[in-house]
Amino acid sequence: MPLHGQNIIGKSTCGKGSDTFRAVDPSTSQALETDFHNATQAEKDQVLALADQAFANRPKDPARTVELLNRCADEIEEVGDELIERCTAETALPAPRLQGERARTCNQLRLFARLVEEGSWIDARIDTAIPDRTPLPKPDMRRMLTPIGPVLVFGASNFPLAFSVAGGDTASAFAAGCPVIVKARPAHPGTSELVGQAVQKAATAAGMPEGWFAMLHGPGRTTGTYLAKHPVVKAVGFTGSLSGGRALFDLATSRPDPIPVYAEMGSINPVFLMPEALAERAEQIADGFYQSVTLGVGQFCTNPGLVVAIDNEHLEKFVAVLCQHVKQMVPATMLLATILDSYEQGVQSLSKAGGVEVAAQARQAPDRDKTQCAAAVFVTDAEKLLDDRSLSHEVFGPSTLIVRCRNTNQMLEVARHLEGQLTATVHATQDELDRCGELLATLETKAGRLLFGGFPTGLEVCASTHHGGPYPATTDGRSTSVGTGAIERFTRAVCYQDFPQNLLPPQLRDDNPTGIWRLVDGQRTK
Ligand code: NAP
Repeated sequence: MPLHGQNIIGKSTCGKGSDTFRAVDPSTSQALETDFHNATQAEKDQVLALADQAFANRPKDPARTVELLNRCADEIEEVGDELIERCTAETALPAPRLQGERARTCNQLRLFARLVEEGSWIDARIDTAIPDRTPLPKPDMRRMLTPIGPVLVFGASNFPLAFSVAGGDTASAFAAGCPVIVKARPAHPGTSELVGQAVQKAATAAGMPEGWFAMLHGPGRTTGTYLAKHPVVKAVGFTGSLSGGRALFDLATSRPDPIPVYAEMGSINPVFLMPEALAERAEQIADGFYQSVTLGVGQFCTNPGLVVAIDNEHLEKFVAVLCQHVKQMVPATMLLATILDSYEQGVQSLSKAGGVEVAAQARQAPDRDKTQCAAAVFVTDAEKLLDDRSLSHEVFGPSTLIVRCRNTNQMLEVARHLEGQLTATVHATQDELDRCGELLATLETKAGRLLFGGFPTGLEVCASTHHGGPYPATTDGRSTSVGTGAIERFTRAVCYQDFPQNLLPPQLRDDNPTGIWRLVDGQRTK
């Protein structure tokens, strides 16, 4: 299917603007075919007006949402190899990785479809009236979650499918019953268009109101901020840099009518290696750690960028094995020249920081024309880390900093010093874990997901997933951007007091026609 390079606006496409750009293949630095049209002012305003109207005419029957989500997954699969080929050209991510990511994207759309079909996610709570209560009668109160309104989604660069046009933010916003406007990433516009066309078809086939879905091209700082400031938009989903997420958060909260921004940003995902575990299996942990830190050229928000352990011969063994792997690593292509630039800056500043040694760098020189980077391992002492906050900033890519501590108390001090994280991992023997209460309690205040053993990359998408964490990992540590809990971000609660049965939403009626789980007078019941 030839790409049209236009914006997707309801059931139509439009590319009236003369401001165009092309995608670049990072592995060759060559522009790819097709001119993509940045949205004009009129196109942005049209999208906003349609989204507003679509929300006003939103379907009340959840079956339509279920159909939309399932059809999105079917249509994305229907695009076939063309999607993988274009995405590989735009991102340099290998086909098997993208096939896996496509499966994850479709699975999460279908997971949300099942959640909506089952229906209990709306968290219905009913407290029936007690008219003869003294001194005051108790009214009849019924509460449930309802959609917040049109949601603006910024696609991420590092997950061109699973966190982009039809990724987790879009899937959860659709599931909540919200129209979605996607600000496509200029890094993968062809991929965005192919997925956008699939979603457009799905929305039409599911009979959603015109404008339920739109996808616009344009720079984040102009198009993105215009959309985020507009009163029609009621929430924002974002994955990317701390500076981008923070700028959008500040902008959205300073609107006359502030709105929530769910930005997932930087994280260094500390890994604590307790001494007995390290003594038992330093080599094995180093092998697994190397796989994790270099997976996807380190371009994962869950990439383990910090190791904390006691300075002894077992840590030396761990460092030696890790360094041996890293030195042999073949340079690999990153997603974007700008991401490579910021990786190189991060590596440079760690290399130059006093008290930090470069323990290993890939031997083979990277080729700049192929947007390649070299993996790196740094080592420092806890005192230095505690003294210099900049050492615990994210370096997005295959680099990690190992922190040598004098004892377990100092490991705890390092944990207390850390900012908010998406994940924190502890490798310990069972006995050690029993003695790690204070460390675990500290990490619980710092991270959204705690791992015992294993490595933080490779996130399972399910009902119990929490992919979020205190600032600066996200702008709202109470929420998750992965797993079915993500739906709550795009809702608000409404309570109906003393409403007649026929005017209540079906989910709150006495006869419970939808058969969902509800909290009725304090009892969980169907
Ligand atoms: P980014 O620069 O933050 O861009 C993400 C999106 O936000 C893009 O659509 C961008 O616009 C927009 N944007 C950026 N700054 C903005 C601003 N001030 N106002 C309004 N919109 C703005 O992220 P990236 O290019 O994907 O990666 C850059 C860095 O982000 C990486 O080096 C890494 O440090 C971090 N990152 C973190 C994660 C994570 O999961 N934690 C994921 C990806 C990246 P354009 O569309 O015009 O570019």
